[in-house]
Formats: sequence, structure tokens, C-alpha cells
Amino acid sequence: MPELPEVQAHVERLSRPADEDGFAGSVLSKFTPITFTALKTATPPPSDAVGTPLERVDRRGKFLLLRFGEITFVVHLMQGGRLVPDEKQSAKPRNGIARWSFDDGRALLLTEAGKERKAGVWVVSGDALGQPPLDGLGVDADSVTVDALTSALRAKGTRLNTFLRDQHGIAGVGRMLANEICHRARLSPFASTNKLTDDQIAELHRSIVECIAAALAFERGLDRMSKSAERPGAVHHRKGEACPVCGDTVKAVEYNAYEVDYCPTCQTGGKVLADNTTSKFLK
Ligand SMILES: [Zn+2]
Repeated sequence: MPELPEVQAHVERLSRPADEDGFAGSVLSKFTPITFTALKTATPPPSDAVGTPLERVDRRGKFLLLRFGEITFVVHLMQGGRLVPDEKQSAKPRNGIARWSFDDGRALLLTEAGKERKAGVWVVSGDALGQPPLDGLGVDADSVTVDALTSALRAKGTRLNTFLRDQHGIAGVGRMLANEICHRARLSPFASTNKLTDDQIAELHRSIVECIAAALAFERGLDRMSKSAERPGAVHHRKGEACPVCGDTVKAVEYNAYEVDYCPTCQTGGKVLADNTTSKFLK
């Protein structure tokens, strides 16, 4: 799944003017939902933005915000979504979810690979940040302060990895960043958020900043959004490989849809984690 750094680098690409292959300044001529589930809102109608130039593309959490004056299209890519220039503009584009057509003859296509159809578009008028689906998000992970992070952590008694992925505590972190942040901070992914010390929280904050900065630097070097397997990391999806810090073998707690990867020596005092909430995963 694209996370904060991938979405951030992509909104920067899209916000460039047309002569730099971006879309800022291009005037919307039509919005076309391609699947039945593409459009998540009934009002205002997307046609309210027709005739208006795209001012810029912003990001909030993992959402992209296409700003057309009063109207904002809020886009969530979910697992396999991409928002890409639509070169062919075919009637039935492969994996197509929705299309924005512009007066200059170009178009942007929202695609979603895989069988799940969860990516979607919300059309909102006025203050987009104060309305669904953005209004319940926590502070963006790239701008959270130590104090705000401390409050958010202590307000919940949950596992650290779960907290990081939950968009209501801080926003923008997904599975990969959560694994990498816990590793860099030398904290167990199962540490209780309300039992972390001030020193541990300071280390966690530093780790969040550094992991996002590194991922963003990588992503800004590309001319399109990376695939998850391309992204550099220490532990994420590296079960069985050597930890680049200490050489111990990276371990994983596996769930149906994802895995929590960690280094026992760096993060858990050598302890191997088992998920005690789902006993079938105990080994
Ligand atoms: Zn290690």
C-alpha cells in the first residue's frame, strides 16, 4: 500500500504544471466514475468542478486531494490503487476506477490492481479537512510533535504497531513504515503504547521522522510511485534475512492480510513474539 512518503512524492509530481508533466492549471472537462463503487459521495455532484482549473494536489494522511476551487476530490488508493496519466483513454480501461478528463486533451486515471474494489473518490465542497473522510484523522506523521505523539500514545492502550497503522492516532503510516519505525526505534511492535517511557517516545519520534525522510528521498528520485517491493527497508517483508544493524535473523508474526516483521535482538531483548490474541498462530 502506498503510505505517506509515496503519496507525498506523487502529489508533488501531479502538482507540477503541464510542461513538467504535471496537471496543475489544467481545466477539468469531465469526471467519469468507471465502477459502481468509485464515487463515495452523492453531493455535491462532480460536475460542479467542470470548467475549473486544478489548483494543486495536496495530501492528508494517505489521501490525495485534488483541489478545484470550492470543490475537492479526495482520493484513497487503498492497497493497489494508482492515480496515473491516462495515455490511452480507452472506454474500458484495465483496472479503471475513475477518470478526470481535462480541456488540454489529457486525463488522469484512478486504477486499482487486484480483485478488491476499495479505492475511491469523495467529492466535497468547502473545507475538505473538516469533513469525511478526512475529519477523523490524527496528526500527519511527518509533522507530529513529541507532545502530540505522547498524548496520542497514552490515550490508547494498544500495541505500538497497531497504533502506528491506525490513522486516528497519527495519519499516514501503513504496514511497511510501522515495521521500519519500530525497528529503528528499537521498540517491540507489541509494546503497550501507554507504558512507553519519555525516552522511548523521544526515540520513537526520531524514528518516525527519519523513516519518513528516508522513504521520501527514495520516492522523490522516481518518476512514478514505487512498488512496495522496490522500497528500501531493514525488516519489512525480510523474514529470514539478516538484520542490517545486528545480524540477527528477522522474524515475523503473520496474519491473514499482513505481517509484523521485527528483529528480536534489536527490539525484544531476543524474545520471539507470538500473537496471543489468535492462538492458531502460536508455534
Ligand atoms: Zn537487529
